[in-house]
Amino acid sequence: MTISQHEKDLMSCVHCGLCLPACPTYLETGSEADSPRGRLVLMRKLHEGTLSPQDADVTRHLDLCLGCRACETACPSGVPYGRILETARERINAADVRPKTAALSRWGLLETLTHPKLMTAALTATQMVTGGNVPAPAIRLLSGDPAARGQSVNLPETLSPPLPPTVTPAAGIKRARVGVLTGCAMRVLFGDVNSDTVRVLAANGCEVLVNRRQGCCGALHAHNGSIAQAQAMARDLIDAFSPFDGLDAIIVNSAGCGSLMKEYGQLLAGDETYALKAESFAAKVRDVSEWLDELGWVAPLKEAPGKESPGTPVTMTYHDACHLAHGQQIREAPRSLLALLPNVRWVELAESEVCCGSAGIYNLTQPEMARRLQGRKLENILATEATVVATGNPGCLAWIAAGLKERGLPDVRVVHPVTLLAEALDS
Ligand code: SF4
Ligand code: SF4
Repeated sequence: MTISQHEKDLMSCVHCGLCLPACPTYLETGSEADSPRGRLVLMRKLHEGTLSPQDADVTRHLDLCLGCRACETACPSGVPYGRILETARERINAADVRPKTAALSRWGLLETLTHPKLMTAALTATQMVTGGNVPAPAIRLLSGDPAARGQSVNLPETLSPPLPPTVTPAAGIKRARVGVLTGCAMRVLFGDVNSDTVRVLAANGCEVLVNRRQGCCGALHAHNGSIAQAQAMARDLIDAFSPFDGLDAIIVNSAGCGSLMKEYGQLLAGDETYALKAESFAAKVRDVSEWLDELGWVAPLKEAPGKESPGTPVTMTYHDACHLAHGQQIREAPRSLLALLPNVRWVELAESEVCCGSAGIYNLTQPEMARRLQGRKLENILATEATVVATGNPGCLAWIAAGLKERGLPDVRVVHPVTLLAEALDS
């Protein structure tokens, strides 16, 4: 991001306040400093030098931002809040204002979550030592909140299940050739979603390639202001996919990853070697729901999945993952696909576009606000009486399921849309 572009972005806010009711932290606190407009003022002052990163209030209010980008959706002036925030966070990181232990823990957390082997080892140890809870001292260290409680992690029976085959042929007539991003959290915690993605794509006439060289897309680093690392990861991912140049699309089933990958052109705009490659890579990135909607669903379906007895409609709702609804402006495609499932009683979720509080590493670094937003989301879910909650991002899947488990409601199923579609395939 060039300085003049950042200045232009900052100046584009006209302070109208129309974004305030869309902001989860403003909804919870009612505080201007925890609203998009208030944060934009802080970030402008930070840029102009009238406020310093050393000012604890600046860091506190910017750290409390979820990066959910609901304010972008609401803003009539097109303020690119997400990229302004990333630049401001990069500046705060560079100023090294956090206590050494907290900074080191954040770095360790980002490294662990973006390396599937490390994440698997850390989660296995968590399972063995605490039965699947991140202990309170670890959360206190990360958040600096002395009152922070431990948090449950919703661990699957199998961590890091095997990756789908390298090549899966299209069923019937081949309509497209696509690659699939396997991701980090998705691969470790929800590996079955990757297999379901491949199955659903193949059933709809796609030849599917899952290359083994791919690593992290860099989304967690970018959203936390570690831009240089995110750029390095983006270059590696572009290189990993380059042997498959003839792909019609690069399919992503994780909203946060897809959102950043569509912005690779912008992320690497200043890199002479990669700028063009990044643009053409980004142009091929599609969320799995977006792609299936674009391509047109053709695979026969049998019945809606669910735990009720056959014939009883399954009550289902949908939570909009922030980086799908706000980062990519995709809302209708997943709903249209879920509407294909027979025997479903559909209930729209109130505040479905309000963040659930997961937000990458936010639930570990800002546990108090994360829990408030999780509680708000759970209340809305319970009001629908749904037994199935569909959502398209691993963080939301894990965080909402953990909340339901803590409330003694583990039977409400939180599941990726492609899994429901894969279960309903008639083959
Ligand atoms: S970000 Fe947009 S909606 Fe919010 S105050 Fe600025 S111009 Fe208005
Ligand atoms: S990104 Fe989300 S939390 Fe942050 S200011 Fe915008 S709406 Fe509020």
